[in-house]
Amino acid sequence: MEHVLHLKCLICGKEYQPDEIDYVCPDHGTEGIVDVRYDYDVIAGNISRESLHDDRENTIWRYKPLLPVEPDAAAPPLAVGCTPLYEAPRLASELGLNHVWVKDDGRNPTASFKDRASAIAVVKAQEKGAEIVTTASTGNAAAALSGICASVEQPNVIFVPKSAPPAKIAQLLVFGSTVMLVDGTYDDAFELCLQAADAYGWYNRNTGFNPYMTEGKKTVSYEICEQLGWQTPDVIFVSVGDGCIIGGVHKGLKDLLALGWIDTMPRIVGVQAAGSNYMAEAWEKGEDILTKPPIVADTVADSISAGLPRDRIKALAAVKETGGAYVTVSDEEILAAIPALARSSGVFGEPAGATSYAGLVKAASAGLVSANDRIVVINTGNGLKDVASALKSVELVGTEPHLVAPSLDAVQTVMAE
Ligand SMILES: *Cc1c(COP(=O)(O)O)cnc(C)c1O
Ligand SMILES: [Zn+2]
Repeated sequence: MEHVLHLKCLICGKEYQPDEIDYVCPDHGTEGIVDVRYDYDVIAGNISRESLHDDRENTIWRYKPLLPVEPDAAAPPLAVGCTPLYEAPRLASELGLNHVWVKDDGRNPTASFKDRASAIAVVKAQEKGAEIVTTASTGNAAAALSGICASVEQPNVIFVPKSAPPAKIAQLLVFGSTVMLVDGTYDDAFELCLQAADAYGWYNRNTGFNPYMTEGKKTVSYEICEQLGWQTPDVIFVSVGDGCIIGGVHKGLKDLLALGWIDTMPRIVGVQAAGSNYMAEAWEKGEDILTKPPIVADTVADSISAGLPRDRIKALAAVKETGGAYVTVSDEEILAAIPALARSSGVFGEPAGATSYAGLVKAASAGLVSANDRIVVINTGNGLKDVASALKSVELVGTEPHLVAPSLDAVQTVMAE
């Protein structure tokens, strides 16, 4: 990988060659997140905005020269990325705004944003000749790894909390993963997965531990900017659990600035559930995230329920370095956002997916965004991932089906109401 300079520890600054370490800087237990640093001159020799214009590859692999893989690495066949970016004028005007787009990452092959990272994990695992790939997950990272492994016949072992929504567990079983339903929280599953990977030599995809996950997730920023004709948005809203997605959004934008493909850095707004607000609290109070203890996380948005955000260093930098903010929304606001987003844009998000829109609603009323800001809201997961929450959300806004006899009269009666 001549385009990768080194892996830099974000705690002590030490630099490693990619063949020296697989995951974190060994000097800080499991906490020493590293950042992949590139030689942008090499990259610029292999890809440009013009070459992209003529590139028919409609997946994240169109940006391969910017990804931490060998140029001849075989990409898994599932079509990850290049999800639609919809302009949403009705949604915008309801909030007194003029320019809002919804990036629908629920359109990925396993129906969440996590496919972007898992695609890279599978390529890295195969590069290392790993017999087994593993991950801990609240559900979506697992489903993503499971599906992409299935596409290339890669054995894998998945650790999820037993409370994960049934649709996500069903995905794992359907794809044929070995599934460990952990009788505990996501944080427990994470620790157990680390231990198992260490004990058995499995390749570990864990978020905020495997440095290459950020690199897959950053492709969303390339897509957003390319889809907007390289006219950078002013603000990007994204929900935050472990903080890997928001760190990836930031990384993608930093890459584009380094290449000179964009010339301003958007503000990044991280949206957290009030019941899982580690990052928001740390940011508001200026707390030291290296010493701040875990919180007890509890929210309807299972995908962003994280007591100790594993990618918190990158997650804090994403907001601080871009003049952004963290906002929190209640579970009621998250549930209300599901039908609100769906009805004003046609995009159906799971709770953590609609959370970013709930954050925009809050930010608009707090004056954090202005009418002419060009705003992108990322839906990170498909609404069908959690049907129970979707049904609860419509119940809360009073939408009910009409039970009718199979006769036109019955229909007539309902329509006349
Ligand atoms: C994982 C996930 C998030 C949060 O991503 P982090 O990297 O954990 O912050 C948000 N929404 C959905 C649907 C997810 O699956
Ligand atoms: Zn270090």
